[in-house]
Amino acid sequence: MKILDRFLKYVSFTTTSDEASNTCPSTAQQLEFGKYPAEELKEIGLLRVKIDEHGYVYGMLPATAGHESDDAIGFISHMDTAPDFSGVNPKPQIFENYDGSDIVLQGTGDVLKVSEFPDLVTLKGRTLITTDGTTLLGSDDKSGITAIVTAMELLAESDRNGEGIPHGDIWVGFTPDEEIGRGADLFDLQYFKAKFAYTVDGSYEGEVAYENFNAATAIFKVRGKSVHPGNAKGIMKNASLMAAEIITALPKNETPAMTEGREGFYHLIDMRGDVSSATLTYIVRDHDRQMFEKRLKYLENLAVIFNSKFGGNSEDAILSLEIKPSYSNMLQVIEQYPQVLERARRAIQKEGLEPVSNPVRGGTDGARLSLMGLPCPNLGTGGYAYHGPFEHVTVEGIETVSRIILNIATAE
Ligand SMILES: [Zn+2]
Repeated sequence: MKILDRFLKYVSFTTTSDEASNTCPSTAQQLEFGKYPAEELKEIGLLRVKIDEHGYVYGMLPATAGHESDDAIGFISHMDTAPDFSGVNPKPQIFENYDGSDIVLQGTGDVLKVSEFPDLVTLKGRTLITTDGTTLLGSDDKSGITAIVTAMELLAESDRNGEGIPHGDIWVGFTPDEEIGRGADLFDLQYFKAKFAYTVDGSYEGEVAYENFNAATAIFKVRGKSVHPGNAKGIMKNASLMAAEIITALPKNETPAMTEGREGFYHLIDMRGDVSSATLTYIVRDHDRQMFEKRLKYLENLAVIFNSKFGGNSEDAILSLEIKPSYSNMLQVIEQYPQVLERARRAIQKEGLEPVSNPVRGGTDGARLSLMGLPCPNLGTGGYAYHGPFEHVTVEGIETVSRIILNIATAE
């Protein structure tokens, strides 16, 4: 099947995940979608193809003769789209031989501007796919699925024709709910027998990323004392005002808007409160493990200091802090498997591209899987500007990624 047709078919399914849902997958539509690529994998000739009750899709292209004991390699993408923006019935706009200029998104009149998305310059002359402005595109991560299925199709064809591109077992996995941080939760590492794998979920085709944030959520809860404001002197404790003091005690320059590269931050993602109670929810991020621990310590100290300032003590706390770990930097795992990165870099160079490894300012399914024992760096997809109406991708980009996957799978 042609890449454009396959991609358009995938994005015609609405697969938005839902943080508020307790089921897996979080939305039934993902289960519905998963059947489609699962069926394709079967038709292509993969074995052990299944979609389990949680919507995880697996399959395996068996090794060519004599290569059964080669390291089994895996490729993983996610089926859901981000809940940040509508993913209902995307209406893609297609520009063959894109001329490199600004593009009007017909559904809203919004403009996809070269000045705001400089990657567009590099996409001139290609077949560009954008949204119509009313939804996101779903290139994140259906470009990844398109590239993986296409690579498997090419490989299976060469196996059948006896063209003899030798390879070991190749595993494929499509996960639900990556965008709400649950993609790795029920990933079956007993079934998916790869020794190492790659998520295909980045941007630039030549990307191979293996550093991500260490991440935690920190929740401050403040208990106030509410009385009638007319008779409040010396009695009232306004929880919202106390919470505001905590906010101003955090370093002002260490926020997402003030940092880049490997700089970490504290990010206030939610605040709510009245006189009697208030809650502040922060996410804490840092690539460096020690700096990350230091940040958590800093918050713990703040909680102790402000608790006593507000008149609480250890038996009767007015300010409490709960820290929940989210994910860790995969670097500590990947460092031990340099050959996994080398293999990707050679595969990228074979396509005439320069491999690029930027630290990811977020997490990936691969980070979780790496810590679960499956080393799993992240490859590009050819798509850009994810999670919103300006999302775009090119057919040529996805095609290049599918060849990079093929190169990785067949490397000596
Ligand atoms: Zn993604």
